[in-house]
Amino acid sequence: MLLEGNIAETKMHHSTGIWLKASKVNHSCMANCKRSFIGDLQIIRATQDILANTELFFWYREPTCDYADMKKEMQHWGFECTCNICDESKNLVKDISRKRKTLLIGLQRSIKQKHVSIERVERQLKVYEATFKKPATELPRMSVFNIYIALSKFYGKTQQLKNKLRDVKDKPRMRMWKTRDDEMMV
Ligand SMILES: [Zn+2]
Repeated sequence: MLLEGNIAETKMHHSTGIWLKASKVNHSCMANCKRSFIGDLQIIRATQDILANTELFFWYREPTCDYADMKKEMQHWGFECTCNICDESKNLVKDISRKRKTLLIGLQRSIKQKHVSIERVERQLKVYEATFKKPATELPRMSVFNIYIALSKFYGKTQQLKNKLRDVKDKPRMRMWKTRDDEMMV
């Protein structure tokens, strides 16, 4: 069923709808499924193996890994996300939280450069990674997944992907690539 929004909403969302079964799916930053739309058809697909009787979760909002941000984003739904990512961020020492925000700004700035230094991005990611105590398998780094995707595209284009996956200790070499929108060229 499609509903007309007011003018302000219409500018934000070109259409709105209620999907009765899908509306029962709760939010978690650590989602196990993802939704997409074809017209007014909503499709929910598993993003990992899901055992029978496991609760489904998808994102209402893209996770920022910042508890205060997510709390604000979820406010109008009337709940707080209590996933491992939000829980870690909620209990994070303020100095580390500030450091992460600064590092994240630096990373985003580096990745948007016309000539991106892979070595710099890898170095910044290493410092960012060091602010986490738990491994990424337990606490996915959702705040930098776009940066990892950009890096994997670069590695794929330069045949480095297998090497990087095989030997993460390999010393990064200085690489430059140009960015144009989402495209990367060596
Ligand atoms: Zn969360």
